[in-house]
Amino acid sequence: MGKIINGKEISNDIKEEIKEYILKRKELGLRPPKIVSILVGNDGGSVYYINNQEKVALSLGCNFEKLLLNEDILEEELLKKIELLNSDKEVDGIILQLPLPKGLNEKKIINTISPTKDIDCLTYINQGKLFCNEKTYLPCTPNSIITLLERSNIELEGKNVVVIGRSNIVGKPVAQLLLNKNATVTICHSKTRSLKEVCKAADIIVVAIGKPKFLTDEYVNSNSIIIDVGTSSLNGKITGDVDFEKVEQIVEKITPVPGGVGALTTTLLIKNSCEALENNEN
Ligand code: NAP
Repeated sequence: MGKIINGKEISNDIKEEIKEYILKRKELGLRPPKIVSILVGNDGGSVYYINNQEKVALSLGCNFEKLLLNEDILEEELLKKIELLNSDKEVDGIILQLPLPKGLNEKKIINTISPTKDIDCLTYINQGKLFCNEKTYLPCTPNSIITLLERSNIELEGKNVVVIGRSNIVGKPVAQLLLNKNATVTICHSKTRSLKEVCKAADIIVVAIGKPKFLTDEYVNSNSIIIDVGTSSLNGKITGDVDFEKVEQIVEKITPVPGGVGALTTTLLIKNSCEALENNEN
């Protein structure tokens, strides 16, 4: 296996597994999973994500519905729509595109989604389960990191992993998932001292800070495994948090940007909908 951890290749493997799963169900006369993705308003990033979700879901044989709502929708109306989706037996997974327009109570709206249909792991109940190491839908970016490592046959148990970044969507949940896999995890942030030394002593470094090319050759050694989560725009190009050209020459394994962590997230979201379908049927 080469030095570059190829997210696209791993994503394609998982896509094949999903396709096969759905095909087998169809052969047995069983329906595919159905996802409803809600977009309130027309935030540029969210429009891109929802269109991409639709494209991937349909290509794998899922049913997918976009629920496009006006940005001036009343909160009660949005809550009612979510409740209707919660009680619709034909709907397995609900995705809510974030951020919501100003004026809407994001936390309340997220937590109205039924945890059994919350395939993006946004609700407090599912996040609580994740932190208690109970079965739940894994949040896509943290799950992508774990999947890239595991499918590259990188053992996590007992490894020293440094996570740089402590956001609620990446740093904290990935640290918890790594801990659930029996890694020894150090979480670093903007106030961490001697970050270079801490990183150099690690087996695996996950960097999610949104600072292009931050992690240079001074942070790594020849045995380091580097997972780059960053996706900043630099001179019109999507750029990771790692100075790839320099670091790649030294380390054992590394993910590229693009084509690393981000290449898997939508695929894993669709995979969660297959799990949701089974939960819905039981
Ligand atoms: P965020 O909420 O802005 O959090 C950034 C974290 O980085 C904070 O915890 C911050 O520390 C820490 N940090 C900032 N500068 C630092 C420094 N110099 N040294 C050490 N730590 C530092 O970011 P996020 O939402 O987690 O996203 C991080 C990056 O991942 C962004 O580029 C984002 O676009 C990308 N991302 C990619 C995907 C994907 O699918 N590929 C998904 C989500 C996010 P403090 O807490 O001390 O401020």
